[in-house]
Amino acid sequence: MLFFLDQYGCAKNQVDGELLIGILCEKGWTRTDEPERADLIIINSCGFIESAKKESLDAVMTARAAYPQAKVLLAGCLSERYADDLAESLPEADALFGNGDLSRFPELLDKLFPTGSTDPTGTTVLRPQICGVPEGARPELLSFPGSAYVKITEGCDNCCTFCAIPLIRGPLRSRPIERIVSEIAGLVSRGVWEINLIGQDLGSYGKDFDETAADSEHPAGGEHPGAGDQHPAGSEHPTDGTLSPLAELLSAIGRLPGDFRIRLLYIHPDNFPRDILPVMAANTRFFPYFDIPFQAGEETILRSMNRRGNPDAYLRLVADIRNAFTESPYGMAVLRTTFLVGFPRETDETFEKTARFLASLRSVWSGAFIWSREEGTAAADYPRAPAKKTAQKRLDTLLEIQRRMTPEELAFFVGKRVEVLVEELIPLSDEEVAESEKNGIPPSRLALARAWFQAPEVDGSVVLQFDEGSRDSRGNPVVPGSVVEALIMQVNGIDVEAVLP
Ligand code: SF4
Repeated sequence: MLFFLDQYGCAKNQVDGELLIGILCEKGWTRTDEPERADLIIINSCGFIESAKKESLDAVMTARAAYPQAKVLLAGCLSERYADDLAESLPEADALFGNGDLSRFPELLDKLFPTGSTDPTGTTVLRPQICGVPEGARPELLSFPGSAYVKITEGCDNCCTFCAIPLIRGPLRSRPIERIVSEIAGLVSRGVWEINLIGQDLGSYGKDFDETAADSEHPAGGEHPGAGDQHPAGSEHPTDGTLSPLAELLSAIGRLPGDFRIRLLYIHPDNFPRDILPVMAANTRFFPYFDIPFQAGEETILRSMNRRGNPDAYLRLVADIRNAFTESPYGMAVLRTTFLVGFPRETDETFEKTARFLASLRSVWSGAFIWSREEGTAAADYPRAPAKKTAQKRLDTLLEIQRRMTPEELAFFVGKRVEVLVEELIPLSDEEVAESEKNGIPPSRLALARAWFQAPEVDGSVVLQFDEGSRDSRGNPVVPGSVVEALIMQVNGIDVEAVLP
């Protein structure tokens, strides 16, 4: 039996898609890239915001219309969030599977493809109780060769007022350290070089392990460095000399043998455990790349987002992060962040502060989104949301600020040698092949690659030029998944151009 996976949404949903592939392969199914040949088409959906929901629904309609031979299954966050409604309103889907517990997927497959009996009538629905963090075999990784995501938590307890994720993914659950470490060891033994740690908020990792450990009491009036320096609740880490759970995890990963690198994605600024900085600075396996979604740069808006920090404290956090890596071989720490504009009660004055905050952050990368009213979130009932036109103008302003900052920050790398992970080789044109044959000189090749300061899918690339026949750091021909040491020659917008020295 053949299945086709149509993947949507974030890296966390990609890992779920890879786990579904693992379950199907274990049951003897084979993945195909040709939906017209598939017996089962899985739309692994995103249900975060309006535009994402529409995209996933359109995919179901398209699959239903174009591939009558196949059963169409809607999985992922949209299904988790709206299974009951969609069972009535989306007859185009033969089945709906929630993502609360992926280990129950075989049950749905058995219902959808019953052996020896007739096909089920109506929509088959299975929306398991949310439990644990999905784990399992991932025989096929959907990232470019040499790179993989590892989910360390699922769900979230932060309850930002604009966010529907806790409604979909449930409360925070953290995977035990030893399970994460053994998964990473397995990936490294498969030749994966770049491991991206993901969760809704890595800063909350382990808070659910032992409430007593995470919520250590602080002596009355004692100073406690943390985002906002006013010691907002929630940014605790042990004061008894033990490490925060995230620092504990990174230390354990750092002790693993093998040639690999680690990137951390998504740390909530109010939960940033500063004790990870010395752990990371002491081990070059950890990229000093920090993805910290600040969302706003003005206190009243942060409060109405249920965020406890403030812009000054956030700037101090960023300064502490940067200071931790000035002596490191990487030479600097790179910041990525995200902003939400058009949030209720946002005014020209509050937005102006957010724009100034972004400019003072000197982030290398940032994204921005226009708030959408998500049912079930606290902000859904908030009054005074700015007009969409105003929100769009503010979005453009933030993107323009970042568009100017990125090349200025990337200039730091010109003239430096950095390890890059090759993602794609750009095919030679017929003219280039003919030219090299005529001259008897191996052609010059181009590849798209990424350096430590570029996360997968969201940041710029390294455009790498090298001679045919060049070798990578393992002595093999340069192919997707190869790691090579490149010399950065110049910045070109959000990309950098490099050669093999
Ligand atoms: S930290 Fe906030 S924005 Fe991120 S998943 Fe949790 S509730 Fe949503």
